Amino acid sequence: MDTPKKPVPIVNPWARPFWDAAREERLVTQRCKDCDKFIFYPRIACPHCFSDNLEWVEVSGKGTIYSFTVVENNAPSAFIKEMPYVVAIIKLEEGVQMLSNVVECDLDELHCDMPVEITFEKLTDEFTLPKFRPV
Ligand SMILES: [Zn+2]
Repeated sequence: MDTPKKPVPIVNPWARPFWDAAREERLVTQRCKDCDKFIFYPRIACPHCFSDNLEWVEVSGKGTIYSFTVVENNAPSAFIKEMPYVVAIIKLEEGVQMLSNVVECDLDELHCDMPVEITFEKLTDEFTLPKFRPV
């Protein structure tokens, strides 16, 4: 049986700058120009003050693990070669949370509040995935 291909993101027009930056190995989020709060995931209006006066800004790529799980059984799937792999919610220094993977890590040492930093994994010519690794 052939291993299924990994899915690629379905990109809404307002999220395009995020994926364009990721392809250049830069992590960006939106920030509201009216209330100055960072926003993630990409939206058409600020979830804090409902302004549509948003900008894209490069962020540090540094954060901590807010929560995580280790996927050890997900067969048959496109991810079988990566198992076991880590799915985590990362809390960035800027305050927003991002669902991603933690890579290059010892699974026994993973814990909440662990400091992590951004790394990138090219998926296709169009998509590069932001991931995180322990600092
Ligand atoms: Zn706002």
